[in-house]
Amino acid sequence: MADAGRLQRLIQALQCLPGVGARSAARMAYHLLQHDRAGARRLAQALLEAADGVRHCALCHTLCEEEVCATCADPARDPRLLCVVETPADQAVLERTGTYRGRYFVLLGRLSPLDGIGPDAVGLRPLVQRLQAEPPVQELILATSFTAEGEATAHVIAELARSLGVRATRLARGVPLGSELEFVDPGTIAHALADRRPT
Ligand code: ZN
Repeated sequence: MADAGRLQRLIQALQCLPGVGARSAARMAYHLLQHDRAGARRLAQALLEAADGVRHCALCHTLCEEEVCATCADPARDPRLLCVVETPADQAVLERTGTYRGRYFVLLGRLSPLDGIGPDAVGLRPLVQRLQAEPPVQELILATSFTAEGEATAHVIAELARSLGVRATRLARGVPLGSELEFVDPGTIAHALADRRPT
């Protein structure tokens, strides 16, 4: 039965999304096929275009369509201020505060030694290169999450910055403990950013 095969392949493919198991995948697949074929085509098209056309910025590693992202290319952004975040989604949250005028470095993950995610896996080597490049970074703002892994990551990067003679600061504790930055409201983040303190 070719039709059943296609439906099963769709249900399996949907399970690559975070938090989507077999049951929710099946619900999504039935919804798309019963009620929204046009939406299914738009989704398929958008996925293909994004998968082929979105890449990582050569400087900060966030997601963008050009070689270098709009923030890195903006001459009004202060290159002496560098804010380290875990994901492009976290960067977007900080941008929404509208208060930060420096540049970013996106780790694309956080240290998690128990899961075998060490310094190489989260891109600390390119961060070192960035810190050694011109113009010199005067302040490295650690905006990793306030989870155990995020704190461990901030600690390792603070040590790294110290060894390179770069001042490191950490977002203030307005952010609830155990929080993923992505899910904290911009007002709280703006305060935490303004009240950042030395590590
Ligand atoms: Zn960039």
